[in-house]
Amino acid sequence: MIIVLRAGATDQDVRQIEETIKGKGLTAHISRGVERTIIGAIGDERNLDPDAFEGLPVVEKVLRILAPFKLVSREFQKEGTVITVNGKRVGGKALALFAGPCSVEGRDMMTQIGERVASAGATFLRGGAFKPRTSPYAFQGLGEEGLKYLAEARDRTGLPVATELMDPRDLDLVARYADVIQIGARNMQNFRLLTEVGKLDKPVILKRGMSATIQEWLMSAEYIASEGNQKIILCERGIRTYETATRNTFDVSSIPVVKSLSHLPVIADPSHAAGKMALVEPLAAAAIAAGADGLMVEVHHQPEKALSDGPQSLRPDAFTQMIGRLRKVAEAVGRTI
Ligand code: PEP
Ligand code: MN
Repeated sequence: MIIVLRAGATDQDVRQIEETIKGKGLTAHISRGVERTIIGAIGDERNLDPDAFEGLPVVEKVLRILAPFKLVSREFQKEGTVITVNGKRVGGKALALFAGPCSVEGRDMMTQIGERVASAGATFLRGGAFKPRTSPYAFQGLGEEGLKYLAEARDRTGLPVATELMDPRDLDLVARYADVIQIGARNMQNFRLLTEVGKLDKPVILKRGMSATIQEWLMSAEYIASEGNQKIILCERGIRTYETATRNTFDVSSIPVVKSLSHLPVIADPSHAAGKMALVEPLAAAAIAAGADGLMVEVHHQPEKALSDGPQSLRPDAFTQMIGRLRKVAEAVGRTI
């Protein structure tokens, strides 16, 4: 349930409503906007009577939420969330550009790729140190060594770094090095992991599970938000369908749908959606045109030798040229790169 208060509601009014909610065994989340305070009652709404609030002079309206997600919903917060990390933004007019290799493979490649993507206009550097691989015999990532190279590349380029966390046991380690924590598609419904990153004061990229509906994706975001961490970036990375011509099927429609349902920023990962470097640019253009708040693109200086996801990785030159062309697409929809 969402309770919208009239302008001028006092702290005392808010406290009183909070007490009523808590008295029924629910949690109250208070959102103080410039004009209005909104209170979200989180938990089992069945014993919470909307009449108890509707009658109060300070209450403008009470919304019973049909969608099971609340804190991440547009009803809870009208304005889009903007997340700032070391001066770089996700959300708002300028697009966020996460770029870098699929896996951190070494110190030199990280700084080399980092410098190239930074000069092309990337705003964040990505690279996996813990890799979710289908085969247990495939390269699993460099672990802490990789995190160190990532942090060194951040120091050289000034770009905040994003990296995947797969296991709650690695949380302290990954959080020590990463500016943004990525939850991968395979872990979108690893609820223990979501709960743990929800306790952090660090932005989280939540990738859409490969077979997840939009509602399931937003429910996973709600898991993180309900623990207190509202700095969530949703990432559409393609879903699994019967089509085999592409690695996944890029669900471009999820971008406007999610943006209408949620205030969270949504970025798109055309690399994992396509699985082929030639398809990255058209999907990226479509994502921007559809209203995405940014992109995540895999870039590798030698894709043919990459230890993971080489076929979908762009060379730094190709990335630079692509960004130049995407700038026009961004401008056409009132955004900037
Ligand atoms: C990745 O970003 O390298 C990755 C493994 O992505 P996803 O979880 O979307 O497959
Ligand atoms: Mn990858």
